[in-house]
Amino acid sequence: MARVLIVEDEKDIRDVVAFNLKQAGHEVFGASTGDEGLRLARAHKPHLVLLDVMLPDKSGTEVCKILKREPATAGVPIIMLTAKGEEVDRVVGFELGADDYVVKPFSMRELLLRVQAMLRRGVAGAQTEELVELGSLKIDHAAHRVWIGEEEIDLTALEFKLLWTFYQRKNRVQTRARLLDDVWGVSPDITTRTVDTHVKRLREKLGPLCDLIETVRGVGYRFTPAPES
Ligand code: CA
Repeated sequence: MARVLIVEDEKDIRDVVAFNLKQAGHEVFGASTGDEGLRLARAHKPHLVLLDVMLPDKSGTEVCKILKREPATAGVPIIMLTAKGEEVDRVVGFELGADDYVVKPFSMRELLLRVQAMLRRGVAGAQTEELVELGSLKIDHAAHRVWIGEEEIDLTALEFKLLWTFYQRKNRVQTRARLLDDVWGVSPDITTRTVDTHVKRLREKLGPLCDLIETVRGVGYRFTPAPES
């Protein structure tokens, strides 16, 4: 059970999403404008915000920027609701700190899966895990060792750092620029192509588990482990 804020000016969408989230056991707050969304976010400290990009007063990306700037709401995950063709806004949204997105028209099943994944991350993020087991993938952070089932796989230091970064931000979309910053550090002579090359190599080494790293077209990657059963 979590508190979820949905900021969406289309009443039909807001209502159906709110209904389904309540059915799933969550407490839901609905806002139809950016300003109302900001007010409710400050008042209720939600665990998650669903944020439409096109709002009547200020854009969803503007709201996102404000929420991520204020210490009280900076840690709250945000899923952007975007229309097809809003590619630019979408990327800008991630650079401003949005955590994931869903493209309209979306199925409720798809949205609920994203919501549950994001809420799980919130819980997992609070722990400091050194030995991680995700299905048959096992990561020993202290020793920098990785196994698939019984078999150890040989990763370079950089590949390990990339995998660990993915793991720490699992279920969130990672832009190439952000990965480049976090894994490689800022350097003028490397490009986002570097990210693609190393992700490709890491996927090859993950073999049967290569699908854990999903390509998000035009944006970057998402590391999605199977839900813990
Ligand atoms: Ca809208």
